[in-house]
Amino acid sequence: MVTKKRCGRRQCRCAAEGPIHPTVLLTWKESGRTRTLHVPLSLRTEVAKWVKEWKRLRELGRKMSRAQRRFLMTSRIRKRS
Ligand SMILES: [Zn+2]
Repeated sequence: MVTKKRCGRRQCRCAAEGPIHPTVLLTWKESGRTRTLHVPLSLRTEVAKWVKEWKRLRELGRKMSRAQRRFLMTSRIRKRS
């Protein structure tokens, strides 16, 4: 997630114009709370890759449990007949 922030320096443009400095935040849910972590710009692409990979794995997990439920359902039907 890319957001903008103020750097805090009084003489900087952002003090008058508002947040202008791009900053990368990693957000995730942990025991019901949304946690955020600042990501250094140098690690931005690396972290984006992790997030993409995690999403891919999560999707795989979903597909797996869907297939497993379907399997259980069909085997239950077979037993009944
Ligand atoms: Zn600034």
